[in-house]
Amino acid sequence: MVRSVVIIGGGTAGWMTAAALAHRLAATGVSITLIESAEIGTVGVGEATLPHIRYFNQALGIDEAEMMARTAATIKLGIEFRDWSRPGDRYIHPFGAHGDDIGAADFHHYWVKQQKAGQVEPFGSYCYPIVAAWNDRFALPEENPDSALAAFSYAFQFDASLYGAFLADYAQKRGAQRVEGKVVSVRSNGESGFIEAVTLESGVKIAGDLFVDCSGFRGLLIEQEMATGYEDWSDYLPCNRAYAVPCKTEDTVGPYTRATARDGGWQWRIPLQHRVGNGHVYCDRYISDQEAVDQLMTTLEGEPLADPKQLFFKTGKRRKLWNRNCVAIGLSGGFLEPLESTSIDLIQSGITNLIELWPERDCAQSDVAEYNRLMDLEFARIRDFLMLHYVATERDTPLWRDMREMDWPDSLAEKIEAFRRRGIVPEYESGLFQPPSWLSVFIGQNILPETCDPRADIMDDGARSAALERIHADIADRVQRTSGHSDFLDGYGARYEGAGPVSA
Ligand code: FAD
Repeated sequence: MVRSVVIIGGGTAGWMTAAALAHRLAATGVSITLIESAEIGTVGVGEATLPHIRYFNQALGIDEAEMMARTAATIKLGIEFRDWSRPGDRYIHPFGAHGDDIGAADFHHYWVKQQKAGQVEPFGSYCYPIVAAWNDRFALPEENPDSALAAFSYAFQFDASLYGAFLADYAQKRGAQRVEGKVVSVRSNGESGFIEAVTLESGVKIAGDLFVDCSGFRGLLIEQEMATGYEDWSDYLPCNRAYAVPCKTEDTVGPYTRATARDGGWQWRIPLQHRVGNGHVYCDRYISDQEAVDQLMTTLEGEPLADPKQLFFKTGKRRKLWNRNCVAIGLSGGFLEPLESTSIDLIQSGITNLIELWPERDCAQSDVAEYNRLMDLEFARIRDFLMLHYVATERDTPLWRDMREMDWPDSLAEKIEAFRRRGIVPEYESGLFQPPSWLSVFIGQNILPETCDPRADIMDDGARSAALERIHADIADRVQRTSGHSDFLDGYGARYEGAGPVSA
């Protein structure tokens, strides 16, 4: 049996892992120790999430309103992409589907037919969470909505350092032990290569059966000790740097993240209750650091609250996220750039898969292989989805031209071809980015099918027009009856009242 787990790192990954393990394993007598170093600190970014985080919080019995109030969280209904397909375009990738069941074919086939006839509203106006986001409205989804139009999900935009502190409280109340200190050496077994103990600068040694490496980009155990290797995906996702800066919040903050394409990358804007997080993600082959920071600072929509902070990364993943008795969760396992906010979600998948495949002390190779297979699949699917944003574009500066003209992974090329020819959208059995997500980016970035599902022809033009008009009007009416996002925060008891630390 694994009797002791040692987690290295107290960033979002470390504390999510400690909280989940404390919740699931406390009763079994397994000891959980988390080591973190205030001197090293955390990466200090990572504010936009995906809806799965709600299930993580729910599984831990966390009260959502309390979590929101403690982390200055706002609601996130999706990501608005500005200028991605071409300057001036905008669309939202929502956490919900477009349209309704109106016939034998999927909704988007009817919309495409109507669009070709030149009589249609933008695709986004047939999606309730998009129209609500654009109108700064939010109400919790109904449990049993009377119409598919009202079915959607939501996520949060929160202060990652406050979320870490919230989970640190949670985990320690359930028995996890926090140790402050810097790990300076690691002892591994000469025969098995299993990690046996780590030593802190103070000289204290901490032994364990299972080690979770949440030490961030440095990969203290998984790479520095175990030399696991890194699959470099920067040919596919070339952005490798970012500047991040918080600014004052505006009077009204829409419940969505914004990602605006720039010549050498893209810029994020994440509205929290007490400030707005901003960042410029870019590739240093296409734009200098100075240009990147200038662009960020000149386009801020509020007074900066700190100096811009520069971050460096290489997109890709460890060759094995689980190696011997060490599991890399968070940035130590890999990073696929912040577009689409997938990193915290990957942390969650790492934790869930670890709990599902909870090992014995010798970490059976079959469990390790299965964990790595599941995580590899998740990383590769996310990589393809992120690339879609860069390749489906008419933007004409070197970064975008190179992305468009490069050899895409077959798995992505096939998906684009299937949609372009017949409007077919990939569907995974599980994991991130199901058909509504692919659909919203395909159409949002102007990939339209050449031919539609023939079943859509069964409906005549008049009936199709009337059905689309009804959906459009119904959504507009629902949004009109939905309260404002700010009112929701007050009514839900989610208003942030503390003056928390400012992290970029
Ligand atoms: P870190 O936050 O770096 O934590 C590492 C921990 O390890 C720290 O506590 C540190 O003190 C400790 N440590 C390291 N070495 C030692 C040592 N020797 N001894 C003791 N302790 C040690 N994700 C999202 O989901 N949404 C986003 O919007 C998003 N935006 C991002 C934007 C950028 C530019 C970047 C770079 C990342 C973004 N991410 C985002 C990713 C997100 O920030 C991370 O997934 C998340 O913060 C988890 O980080 P971590 O805990 O793995 O690492």
